[in-house]
Amino acid sequence: MSDHDFETVLYRELTPEIVRVIMNRPEARNAQDLQLTYDLNDAFDRGAQDPKVKVMILSGAGPHFSSGHDMRGGNGKAMSDFETVGTWGSFDAPGAEGAMAREEEIYLGMCRRWRNIPKPIIAEVQGKTIAGGLMLVWICDIIVCSEDAEFRDLVVGWGIPGVEYFAHPWELGHRKAREMLFTSDWVSAQDAYRLGMVNQVVPREELSAYTEAMARKIAEKPSFGLKMTKEAINQAQDAQGQWNALQSAFMMHTLAHTHWRELTGRGLYTAEEAPKVPGTYKP
Ligand code: ZN
Repeated sequence: MSDHDFETVLYRELTPEIVRVIMNRPEARNAQDLQLTYDLNDAFDRGAQDPKVKVMILSGAGPHFSSGHDMRGGNGKAMSDFETVGTWGSFDAPGAEGAMAREEEIYLGMCRRWRNIPKPIIAEVQGKTIAGGLMLVWICDIIVCSEDAEFRDLVVGWGIPGVEYFAHPWELGHRKAREMLFTSDWVSAQDAYRLGMVNQVVPREELSAYTEAMARKIAEKPSFGLKMTKEAINQAQDAQGQWNALQSAFMMHTLAHTHWRELTGRGLYTAEEAPKVPGTYKP
């Protein structure tokens, strides 16, 4: 399949075996709204279903990889505007039922789906990655970042125990995960490297070339060998209980959202408040 422009994501064939999936909302620092979520899913599916493609690179246009979830929500679109991929429904149900169903579909479920794509995905990360953006990095098989890359999850400040795909302790070790979440401090590229969250740290100007060179090495391998290797490593994580732990944390995340709504009578914050919330997209 050839190049394709989705509304918010670009799909680019570097070679028949290597494709780039590029989040293309640089003006919003690639904030993840519903359109970006479903465009990403369509782009990943395109690469997954193309028998020629062996490896994908996920990158973000502009100075920063991702500012996280778009706090303005659907930007005028609703769940009913998209073809959902999970089995959860009743997205408009009142109370926790609808809210949980939405997050199950667009965050936890989608991340799990992408993490299980049976082809290697390399994250190419520059600048800032905040909260929900971490999930997009963590679902990738290999993470290459630039020296200026920084990572932060500040949602504990809003009473939420971290983002929906709660891989922090698995990615950074439990000790650093506690510090990151309790303090909302940034994790530097060097700390992320030292702790094993990222594979390589390279100068910003060499980032794309480095990632593409790695993709070319991977693309030399037989496709079935790559698939089975990825599956074996995923199974090892699952055997250690990663998926069970992620699901448990998601339940606590949902409880915390519900607690906030019970206290305030509304969601996390309003569209008007969102630009004032630190770390979120500012128009
Ligand atoms: Zn949430």
